[in-house]
Amino acid sequence: MNSAMPLLNVERLSKSFGTHRVLNSIDMSVKHGDVTCIVGPSGSGKSTLLRCLNYLEVPDSGVVFLDGDPVGIRWHGDTLRQMSFNELAAQRQRMGMVFQSFNLFPHKTALENVIEAPIIVQRRKKAEAVDEAMALLDKVGLGDRAQYFPKQLSGGQQQRVAIARSLAMRPAVMLFDEPTSALDPELVGEVLAVMRQLAEEGMTMVVVTHEMSFAREVADHLIFMDGGVIVEAGPPKEVLSNPQHARTKSFLARVL
Ligand code: ADP
Ligand code: MG
Repeated sequence: MNSAMPLLNVERLSKSFGTHRVLNSIDMSVKHGDVTCIVGPSGSGKSTLLRCLNYLEVPDSGVVFLDGDPVGIRWHGDTLRQMSFNELAAQRQRMGMVFQSFNLFPHKTALENVIEAPIIVQRRKKAEAVDEAMALLDKVGLGDRAQYFPKQLSGGQQQRVAIARSLAMRPAVMLFDEPTSALDPELVGEVLAVMRQLAEEGMTMVVVTHEMSFAREVADHLIFMDGGVIVEAGPPKEVLSNPQHARTKSFLARVL
């Protein structure tokens, strides 16, 4: 790991669905330990950008670099080729992803959800995986819920299990796509508190969110997207209090 190099570097990333250009030459970089929040209207390309970061969506052009390595592709002699499935899987483990819908295994307990991938994918010893999973469940405030099934947990608790499950893979960066958007309002705070704690501990995070106060207080860098481009980016307090572009101003007038 080279801490002078950004952990994530996105260069001229473009993506279309049919004739619809959803991402138009996006450049961004994320330093080690930084929290980047991405805001913007629905349909502006935020999820597609996040999904391109870990190659869940294959860009049409442009490259994402993770710690200097291109994501999803590699050089064979002097041509770039898609990685093999195993190479891509290994790279993806370095990027944890948390979605709006928690996607826990319904027939597994919280603990079983958290130890599944470390044991099956990373082939870690079960006792070690359980110890680490219990520590992570404690960290997200659910040490006493380890034996509960998802349907016995609130949405906020399920999302915290999903965060613990992602962390169990020991990712280098955590990607969040509107992690609180599916939650009842009274449950949003407990999830944001866990994310804030992660940020304070130095986790590198990219967070698509509509929670402007979280963005203002926790983000090091705020990106405003509209129509597949980054319209404006910078320190959150500056972008939020003194937006330079008309599109940013009208978006913020609607959400703040
Ligand atoms: P956001 O997350 O900002 O709401 P998205 O990245 O989900 O935006 O979507 C951007 C645009 O791309 C939208 O118009 C959406 O309908 C379109 N889109 C997203 N995924 C697909 C897909 N798999 N096929 C076709 N169109 C898509
Ligand atoms: Mg989205």
